[in-house]
Order: sequence, then structure tokens, then C-alpha cells
Amino acid sequence: MQLRFAYANTGEEYVKRKGWQQATLSRCPLHAQGGCRFARHGTYARVSPPGTLITRYYCPDGHRTFSLLPDCYAARLSGQLSEVEAVVRAVEQAPSQAAACAGLRLDIELPGVQRFVTRRVQAVQAALVVIKGLVPERFGACVPTLLAFALMLGVPEVLVALRGIAESWLQELPRPLGFCPRPRPGGGRDRARQHRAGADPPGLLA
Ligand SMILES: [Zn+2]
Repeated sequence: MQLRFAYANTGEEYVKRKGWQQATLSRCPLHAQGGCRFARHGTYARVSPPGTLITRYYCPDGHRTFSLLPDCYAARLSGQLSEVEAVVRAVEQAPSQAAACAGLRLDIELPGVQRFVTRRVQAVQAALVVIKGLVPERFGACVPTLLAFALMLGVPEVLVALRGIAESWLQELPRPLGFCPRPRPGGGRDRARQHRAGADPPGLLA
């Protein structure tokens, strides 16, 4: 499962400073009382930015892998939350999603761009709606847009800030903000997937 690594900088800085070396878990999330064989379990690579490694732990007694995802990275999606935020903000500010798609310089064909944009917009909006309900005293009056949340929080980048604000609910919040696997139509969920060695699961929101 993915866990939050509180990190205030960008992915580029994380790579430059080898941030994965500072990412540590003091105890097993499954066995708070200790006594299990919980230990570091190497790293896995993410594609972007190049050079990114993510720290992993493994509890052989609970048969569970834990990876420490820095706040700047999108969950179960390539790249950083700032890139997701830029796409969604472009749509929020454009007269239509089609106009926003035309203006985005993405290295894919237009039907692919529409799909790429729609999934990001829907995923972010779904997360903002859930957070409005979870923290109504702060966000209850906001419409579920990044612009409205940015004004409320007084921060330039909302998604990275929400990793900290919504820390207690990250396992339930939809990716790429939260760590929940893709919700299924009808309300069910995929079973949480174990992290394997190798790249971050590719193309899940591509
Ligand atoms: Zn354990």
C-alpha cells in the first residue's frame, strides 16, 4: 500500500537530493506493537522525473509492502501533482474543456488528449467533493474547483497542500490525490494491489 511521505519540495529536488534516503517508517503499520519482521525493502523507480526512486518497506508476517510516496508525486499516475493541477486549472479557466484541450501542448493525439484531460478533471473533482464533506468547516462553502480551494487555502498549489490536510483519509480518497485504487462503477472498489518491483503502475490514468 502507498503511504504519505511529507515532503515540501518538487520531484526534481527530491531526485537531486536523493530524498528516498530520508524517507523512513519507524514501525510497521500493521503491527504497531512490534514483534514482526518489518524492514526496508529497497526502492522502486518512477518514470518522471527521471531518477526518481520510492522507498519501500515490507512486513513478511503481514505479507504487505509499503511505499512512501512524497507529496509532490501523483499517486498511481506518472508524474507530479503539479502537472495534474496545471491540466485541471487550464480546464477550469477555459470556456470549455474542448478549448482547454486544444490549448494543452500534450504529445498525444486529440482523442487521447480528451481522455487524458477528462480523467484528471473527474478524479480531482471527485476528491474535492469528498474533502468538502470531510472538512465542511473549511471547504463546505467552496465549489469543488482548484481555484475555489486555492482561494480558501491561500496557496498556489492545492493538491500538494491537500496531501497534508487530508492525510487521515488518503487511503479512501481517489487517486491521483489519494491512494485509493480506481473506484468501480456501482461503488465497488478494486482490491488494493500490492506494489511490485519496477516502475509505478503505468497508464492507469493515461
Ligand atoms: Zn508487521
